[in-house]
Amino acid sequence: MQLTKIGIVKNSINASMDPLKFQNIESVIEINEEFRDGLYRLDESRYVTIVFLMHKSTEPIRLKHFNRHGEYKGVFATRTPHRPNSLGISTVQLLETTEKGIQVMGLDAINGTPVIDIKPYFPLYDLKEENGPLDTSMLTFVPLDTPRSWIIEKILADDKTSLFHAAGQLHGHYCPGLALGIHLGTRGMQELRKFSNGIMENLIAIVEMNNCASDAIQFVTGCTFGNNSLIFEDIGKTAVTLVERSGKALRITVKDNWRDLLPNRDEYTQLFDKVVRDRNATEEEINAYRKTSRQVGFDMMNLNSNLLLNVEVISYDLPARAPIHSDFYCDKCREKAMSSRKIIKNDQEYCMKCAYEGYYRLTGHGIEFYHKENLKSG
Ligand SMILES: [Zn+2]
Ligand SMILES: [Zn+2]
Repeated sequence: MQLTKIGIVKNSINASMDPLKFQNIESVIEINEEFRDGLYRLDESRYVTIVFLMHKSTEPIRLKHFNRHGEYKGVFATRTPHRPNSLGISTVQLLETTEKGIQVMGLDAINGTPVIDIKPYFPLYDLKEENGPLDTSMLTFVPLDTPRSWIIEKILADDKTSLFHAAGQLHGHYCPGLALGIHLGTRGMQELRKFSNGIMENLIAIVEMNNCASDAIQFVTGCTFGNNSLIFEDIGKTAVTLVERSGKALRITVKDNWRDLLPNRDEYTQLFDKVVRDRNATEEEINAYRKTSRQVGFDMMNLNSNLLLNVEVISYDLPARAPIHSDFYCDKCREKAMSSRKIIKNDQEYCMKCAYEGYYRLTGHGIEFYHKENLKSG
């Protein structure tokens, strides 16, 4: 059996010490050049597990011994460095990925320690009951026959960081608004413990805002604009109501003081005011805003949703299921449209654009009536 050293630990600790004292020690793990490509996208993980060789361990191995706490135990029942294979395993916070390797916090390995392997930390597999709220029995409810299985798995594992990361693909950037939406959607789905497969319309989401959070809610709940399971109430509150066809409904809102919970609150607010509210910022400030916004968003994934959200059981008056319609061709413009939008005038069938002086549209301003005159001149 042969192991290959993939890198080396560099930090300020040159002799072994109490493992707890390593909690605040930053280490750089310099990866050998030929292995660096293997770090691609490791930065999506907040925590990583490091396997390393405790190379200074030279004491003879005793299969039973007194451990540091004075307990007489077998070597496999303790975490002594003096083992048949002196491998150490630590799950640590990933601070940064750099050109040459990674920077981590809390690795209990001394300067010069050879590193054997690095793995991302997955709460779904790695988080055990003692450490958190994961209910593994729920995993049997993950339907495998929907493209949303991955999302459902992350909801059940309460892995909001992964959801946030993935929702960024839909939203286009990372921001506190998207982060709020991940909290709202994930909490709602966890409470409801019933999952929409995105086809059957068993679950409907009602959003009261057209902002960043709405994208996260569509992503997490699977209730989208396109599958007619998203209702938009043009109210402008950051709130979502999840309704099952059976009638069970939960409304989840954001607590008034949520901004107080933000990490880097002052820095973020200052930049937000300049860049977004006043639209009066230098390129440097815009870049700083993007960076801070992203960081605050990811940091928010660690906030306790109990502090952030209010959940109440309500009743909600759902509209009937969306009808499936055939299409028709407008007698004026000859374009095809859904029959549900057909206007009959003088025995002719028209589309709404041809029949009326305007129509409703959803824009950044909300739902507004759009006049055809603007349409012509525009
Ligand atoms: Zn956003
Ligand atoms: Zn027409």
